[in-house]
Amino acid sequence: MSSELAGVGIVSGASPSIAIGRAHRLAPSELETRHYSIERKDVLHEVARLNNAFSLVRAEIDDLATHVAPEAPGEVRAFLDLHRMILDDPLLCDEPRDLVRSRLINAEWALTIQLEQVCKQFEAIEDEYFRSRSQDVRQVVERVMKALVSGRSATVTLPPKAADGERLILIARDMSPTEMLQLKRRSEVDVAGFVTELGGRTSHTAILARSLGLPAVLGVANAREMVAEGDLIVLDAEAGRVRIRPEAAELTQYRQRLRAQLESRLALRKLKSRLARTKDGIAIDLMANIEMPEDTREALEAGADGIGLFRTEFLFMNRDELPGEDEQYEAYAKVARAMKGKPVVIRTLDIGADKVLTERARRSLGIAAGAPTVESNPALGLRAIRYCLVYPELFLTQLRAILRASSVGTVRILVPMLAHVHEVEQTLSFVARAREQLKERKHKYDARVPVGGMIEVPAAALSLPAFVRRLKFLSIGTNDLIQYTLAIDRADASVAHLYDHLHPAVLHLVSRTIRVGQRARLPVAVCGEMAGEVDLTELLLGMGLRQFSMHPSQVLSVKERLFGLSTKTSAKLAARVLRADDPLEIRKMIEKAAAKPAG
Ligand code: PEP
Ligand code: MG
Repeated sequence: MSSELAGVGIVSGASPSIAIGRAHRLAPSELETRHYSIERKDVLHEVARLNNAFSLVRAEIDDLATHVAPEAPGEVRAFLDLHRMILDDPLLCDEPRDLVRSRLINAEWALTIQLEQVCKQFEAIEDEYFRSRSQDVRQVVERVMKALVSGRSATVTLPPKAADGERLILIARDMSPTEMLQLKRRSEVDVAGFVTELGGRTSHTAILARSLGLPAVLGVANAREMVAEGDLIVLDAEAGRVRIRPEAAELTQYRQRLRAQLESRLALRKLKSRLARTKDGIAIDLMANIEMPEDTREALEAGADGIGLFRTEFLFMNRDELPGEDEQYEAYAKVARAMKGKPVVIRTLDIGADKVLTERARRSLGIAAGAPTVESNPALGLRAIRYCLVYPELFLTQLRAILRASSVGTVRILVPMLAHVHEVEQTLSFVARAREQLKERKHKYDARVPVGGMIEVPAAALSLPAFVRRLKFLSIGTNDLIQYTLAIDRADASVAHLYDHLHPAVLHLVSRTIRVGQRARLPVAVCGEMAGEVDLTELLLGMGLRQFSMHPSQVLSVKERLFGLSTKTSAKLAARVLRADDPLEIRKMIEKAAAKPAG
């Protein structure tokens, strides 16, 4: 009998979302260990066992760290560093020894007590990111516990494949990044994906699964109970579903879907080194949006023509101490260097609305005059450029860091949420001040770094000439432009059905911005989600767009679409769409055009 389990699906853009294989259950946690009292004469022995276990795990992590491939994603090193740090924390490695001595208990018991103590502290933290890091502490302690029980390093033992040649799907209570890396290193083991009972979208296991390209379904509460060793499993990571022992007809369908996914990804990957051009030979820039420096790897893998949007606020979130100039410089320079001269558009801090600093970080900035303590409507409040202009030191620090990064690559500054011309003027004078400061401090920078603006507030889209005169390029943030034009909070699920990128008002503002920019010979990009929607490529091309910036996983699909489009027919489609005033009619036109075979 087939059955189904649900969880949080994790898909990596570059890999298939379906995995088929035989279940291999990983040994249950060793945390359920024996706890007993000891005599004073045994204290030294128990302490030595603890020391030995910690040393084994340290050696294991160090060994993994020395074998990390140079092209491995940045997260890999970051996890190993984090787990090494947790391992060396005196709260974890010293306290259990004291507990053995003071309470006369065995090493396993002492470690369990201390683990619960540390995790309780983590779980009391308000911030979700830090709270979820208790999972990392548990994973590290679990490895120490395994080493403690067995007296040796805890390597996962696996058969290379199932007996019938099927790949393996691992079923575990939890998988630590260390375990995943160990598996990845053993190329003879053919793992297709994994299912865990713990973990969610923001867990490190999820992040690493994504960057290693392994489909997974996490947080499946009773996975180990429901799945037997050797069961045939289909993992549909897009739907977050695990099919156990599927019927033959269903399995055939899944195999076909998997084959089609592999073929289309293979075909797309072949496009990586081809220049993006339309059928009539017009070159188009396809850039990538990134949130952290580590995402650059995905952008390069997709063959992006540059970074069209670096959302720098992610460097500032989930931490109490804000990044200083040097830390920011390292992050921006890392991206600029990796892109080897291709443009890197660094957006200044877009904090506010749904992207907030921690309470402590906010307090460290001091309360600025006029800054509300509680915002009743944060999307319309102190956000993005408004925030930066109210906290000059924060802004100047970031501008200096961005300018310094221009000495190692091609850097551009992008300013979010502009609505007033005086915001552009103030920004430009801050940039000039940051340049002077760098000159005084004898730091290198490129004096010609261009400053551009995001068009994402209707007020800016409707008064473009004044912006165009002062800026060097424009980037249309359609995500916010839709939100502010239609008065739909983009984070509010109750009005999500009204959030419509094909609303004529939105399309007119986008088209107008492209046209006005073009007339002034100013480069114009779209960097909102619309740029990565393959069904909208023809419409945007027809409006005159020549620069698209999107999530790296979309770059090759948009490129493939462009090869089959001509600017002339696209312009005709855009003209028809812009003449229509009924969103339903517009949708039909887009669907019809998208259904036409390429070419
Ligand atoms: C946008 O608003 O379209 C945009 C790209 O910025 P963000 O999604 O970061 O607000
Ligand atoms: Mg925006």
